[in-house]
Amino acid sequence: MPILANICHFIWKKLKSSKVSNILRIFFGLSFVLYIILIMSAPTTPEAAKSACIFCNIANKLTDTEILFEDEEVCVFRDIKPASKYHVLVIPKRHIEDAKALVPADKELVERMLSVAKELLAKNNYSEDTARLGFHWPPFRSVHHLHLHVIAPEADLGYIARLVFMKNSYWFVSPEYVISKL
Ligand SMILES: [Zn+2]
Ligand SMILES: [Zn+2]
Repeated sequence: MPILANICHFIWKKLKSSKVSNILRIFFGLSFVLYIILIMSAPTTPEAAKSACIFCNIANKLTDTEILFEDEEVCVFRDIKPASKYHVLVIPKRHIEDAKALVPADKELVERMLSVAKELLAKNNYSEDTARLGFHWPPFRSVHHLHLHVIAPEADLGYIARLVFMKNSYWFVSPEYVISKL
């Protein structure tokens, strides 16, 4: 890449000194500027390839977060601040801002997220009835990438967690509610 840049610089210097038409000079000048912008913006390291969204990075395996389950559409990992014995997040691999940003075409995806959550609860010997499942409802959300909280048993939720993950509140809604709106 630096060799190419040197060649460009050499051509630019030649153009400046020679009697080339102004239009051609502008054309080469603009091409040179564009080339520099492309070099500057190209991701060169895995670090540069990382997105600003932490959950996209987890889904793309750019972090060392342990993935508990994944398929083509969703992925599951532990919540970093577990509110009970079992607390995982089911996220779509595609970046979706929040539950409000969902469109009717996403209905199957949300249903898939819910069925994955139920399968994991059963696999870990927790009953659905004693678990707390839900989505943050904007503007009350933490990470701006849609995630389904799966918490069990809900009886173990502390005072603050009971508030944050309050069933069918203005800020935390059930997956069934989200699906019914699509
Ligand atoms: Zn994301
Ligand atoms: Zn959350």
